[in-house]
Amino acid sequence: MVKRILVVGAGAGGGLVASRLRKLLPRGEAEITVIDKYGRTDFQPSYTLVALGNREPSQISVGMENFSKTGIKTVKGEVTEVDPKDRTVSVSGEKIQYDLLVLSPGVKFDGQSFPGYENASHFWDMAGSLELRKRISGFKGGKIVLGVTTQMYKCPPVPWEMAMMLDDYFRLKGIRQKVDITVAHWVQKPMGMFGPVISSPVTKWLDEKNINGVYNFKLARIDGDKKQLVGESGETVDYDLAIVAPPHRPPDFVAKNPDLKSSSGWLDSNIRNFRNSRFDDIYGIGDAIAPSIGIGMAGVFAHFQADTAASMVAGDVLGAYDPVPYNTIGLCASDTGDAGWIAYCDFGKKLTVPNTAFPDCRSMGRSRILKLAHAIYEKYFLASVYGGWYQ
Ligand SMILES: Cc1cc2nc3c(=O)[nH]c(=O)nc-3n(C[C@H](O)[C@H](O)[C@H](O)COP(=O)(O)OP(=O)(O)OC[C@H]3O[C@@H](n4cnc5c(N)ncnc54)[C@H](O)[C@@H]3O)c2cc1C
Repeated sequence: MVKRILVVGAGAGGGLVASRLRKLLPRGEAEITVIDKYGRTDFQPSYTLVALGNREPSQISVGMENFSKTGIKTVKGEVTEVDPKDRTVSVSGEKIQYDLLVLSPGVKFDGQSFPGYENASHFWDMAGSLELRKRISGFKGGKIVLGVTTQMYKCPPVPWEMAMMLDDYFRLKGIRQKVDITVAHWVQKPMGMFGPVISSPVTKWLDEKNINGVYNFKLARIDGDKKQLVGESGETVDYDLAIVAPPHRPPDFVAKNPDLKSSSGWLDSNIRNFRNSRFDDIYGIGDAIAPSIGIGMAGVFAHFQADTAASMVAGDVLGAYDPVPYNTIGLCASDTGDAGWIAYCDFGKKLTVPNTAFPDCRSMGRSRILKLAHAIYEKYFLASVYGGWYQ
């Protein structure tokens, strides 16, 4: 009998898992359907470029209808409930039956839950980036502060990356001397979550660019009247433009379902095979599982998790398929304003050996030519996420 595979989320994880499965499974064996509330996939690392006016939305986004070329069905709608016992997913009042379910719904932004968040701008989604673009392009001088509201947020290095991109942007505009740029963050040092191999060079670059840092700063609220970020101990950082990551929370259909969530409140998943611990016909990958398995929120993690999860699902359908072991590498093609930078970290030991302080990281070079790496990966991602040319 043809197996009905449902994939929730057409983002980095869901888009890739569906493409992989279409390649792995003969059409007579599996019907694959992807459900997404926006009906499109964005290359999210380029939201920074949208905010700076270097990309238009159409350049970094592909519509889910492209899946039809590869014989994958699509449903545009919001999943409100998953019933693992009945094997159904509720979308816009309709129940869809599945035999195997892959969940990659990412995160929910919940600005309303954070005091004063309405005073901040951000570049963590398309709408936010377009709104921020207006503020940045009209900024004539003053204090720009970059911060985060929750410990986990998409792309841990990006506040510092954006600070260096803003430095370059205002230099090119000829008004850098009028702009004060500060990163206020809960870590002890710039990109401190990756250890000294990464933190040391980044600290040097930030110093060279006169970018300030306020560290051990846990943001408690944003005071719009005084224009200050206020930390948990009452310390303050003044701003004219506050660029702050919105609170990242698990999607509602996960948060309210004890069968789907782990003790962290996020989507439950097993780091070896990405199966739900209670229901072996449900898989979870991507940002939504990051707090459950103890890794960061990054597309590169979702990508490798998609490889492993797709191989497991293929095994479920075909009866036998060699599982792809989870690749715990995180590779980052970063923009540091005037130059590109490539770094990678292996999280294998950090994920499995208790008390490992940092992932095993390497900085692989920084130069102007490496600015191309981001653009190349952007094109590769958009071309491949719907089963394109490279697979
Ligand atoms: C500014 C920025 C820069 C970044 N830079 C990098 C980088 O350099 N390197 C890197 O590796 N990562 C980077 N990332 C992170 C990366 O984009 C994410 O980690 C990755 O997209 C996560 O994939 P995902 O499949 O878990 O979620 P997403 O890609 O967010 O996809 C989730 C999908 O699920 C859909 N969805 C959610 N809820 C529902 C629902 N209830 N019903 C139906 N559909 C739903 C959404 O519409 C969305 O399309 C960056 C992110 C941002 C914001």
